[in-house]
Amino acid sequence: MKLNYGSSVPISTIDWHGHVSVVFFLRGCPFRCPYCQNYELLVESNMTDVSVLEAAVKKSRPFVSSMVLSGGEPLIQKKASMHLARFAKSNGLLVGVHTCGFYPKVVAEMIDESLVDKFFVDVKAPLDNFGMYTKAIGFCEPQEACDCIRVNPEEVVKKVSESILTVIQSDVDLELRTTAIRDFIGNADDISKIAASILKLTGRKDIPYVIQQGIPEHAMLESMRDTLPYNRDEMLELASVAHEFLDNVWIRTKEKGNEKV
Ligand code: SF4
Repeated sequence: MKLNYGSSVPISTIDWHGHVSVVFFLRGCPFRCPYCQNYELLVESNMTDVSVLEAAVKKSRPFVSSMVLSGGEPLIQKKASMHLARFAKSNGLLVGVHTCGFYPKVVAEMIDESLVDKFFVDVKAPLDNFGMYTKAIGFCEPQEACDCIRVNPEEVVKKVSESILTVIQSDVDLELRTTAIRDFIGNADDISKIAASILKLTGRKDIPYVIQQGIPEHAMLESMRDTLPYNRDEMLELASVAHEFLDNVWIRTKEKGNEKV
C-alpha cells in the first residue's frame, strides 16, 4: 500500500501530552486555514510505500509508547491511517489522531475497530457560527482555478460536531483544541463563543479543552506572518474566559508547554 506521506518525528514529547510518540504527518487536507504552518503538506504529493513508515515505527518502538497521526489531515487517507493504526497496535503502541474533524465516519470506523486511544479534534471557531468557521478554514466561493477549499462550511461544522459526539459516545479519550491567532480568530469574545458552543453541543463541562498559542510566523497567508503571537499572560486570560463554560481548560504555549489553568 502507498500513502501520501509528509514527514515524521521519531521521538516527540509534544504531540501527545504525557506520552512519548513517534509522529507521522500525512499529506492532504480539505481545509485551507490561513494560519496553517504545514501548508506544504496540503498540495504536494509524495506517494510512499507504507513499509517505510512501518520500519520507522519499529525503529522508534524501544523509545516511545505511542504513535500519533497528524498532518495535514490524516483521516483524508482512511486506508493508510487505519493500516498504520493497526500496525502500531500490533506493536504494542497507543494510537493518537490529530484531526480537523471532517471525517466522522472514519472516526467511527476506527473506534469500532478499537484502533485509537485518543482523538485530538480541532474546534477552529464556534460550532454554531458558520460565518466564523468559514473564515477560520479559508473557504472561498470557487470562481476560478485556485487552491482554496471546496467544502461547504455548514457541512464542515456538521461533520466536526458529529466527530466530537462520536468520540464522546465511545470510551476513547478526547481533546478539543483551538488555535488562537491575534487579529484573526481566538480573541476573548471568540473563545467565549467557542467554549459556549462546545458546552451546547456536548452538554459536558469536563472535556479537555486546549487553547493553543498560534505562531503565525510560518503561516500560509503571507500577510499574517508579522502578527505577534498571544503571550502567555494573554493566553491565561483567554483560558479564564473559557472557564466560564468549561472546567478542564488548558493552554499550550512555547514558553511553558501544556498548563492546566
Ligand atoms: S491547519 Fe487547517 S489547513 Fe492546515 S492541516 Fe490543519 S486543518 Fe488543514
